[in-house]
Amino acid sequence: MFNVTRPQPGPDCSNDYHREEVIRSLQKMFYGKCYLCEDEVSDPVVEHFIPHEGDRTLEYNWNNLYCSCHRCNNIKGTAKDLLDCCDASTDVSKAIKCLCPSIPEHNVIIEAQNTSPETQNTAGLLDRCYNANNTGIRAISREALHEKLFDHYLDFIKYRRKIKDKNSTSKEKDDAKEHLENMMDVSYPFSIFWKWHVLGDAFLSGQLAVNGIMRNNYEGGCP
Ligand SMILES: [Zn+2]
Repeated sequence: MFNVTRPQPGPDCSNDYHREEVIRSLQKMFYGKCYLCEDEVSDPVVEHFIPHEGDRTLEYNWNNLYCSCHRCNNIKGTAKDLLDCCDASTDVSKAIKCLCPSIPEHNVIIEAQNTSPETQNTAGLLDRCYNANNTGIRAISREALHEKLFDHYLDFIKYRRKIKDKNSTSKEKDDAKEHLENMMDVSYPFSIFWKWHVLGDAFLSGQLAVNGIMRNNYEGGCP
């Protein structure tokens, strides 16, 4: 999960939130990614952050529209009381640790970093988004999601190795550092993983500009 800034005013969605302008605005705002799993999504679903349950003021409300993949939209269902990635006062990347498994078949590791109900609920939801395989389609989409995540993880390891290799030139090391810093940018697929993988790695933390990886400086309590 990653923070975004919602443009105001948004496109008119008072009667139809499936208009091309609305979808394109959401894609741009969420960097072409699902707001939950951070996978790139070419056929996005318009997700209602607060389930509208027939309430038109929630259903046709620009501020309640989020960009999601089909898998996460289906898994989220009517879940509520979640961390809001559009809330500038909440650093959602810092609230939940996400780590890649070392084998694609294993579960993604999700750890809430504080005890607020929103963080706990969101960590539980992300765990299901990344790991649920309780139906045939979810087993298949989980496999595809993990393979994409693992491909990026292999890139991460490759760049780390390039920085560490005593035979690398200064330029090769600088390029590798730039790649890793790009991976931590909010626009990059699965950016929350690369932030936490750098923060947990003493060698990389000493090599990269880690200040500001997490935006806020709250400690332990509610975000
Ligand atoms: Zn997703």
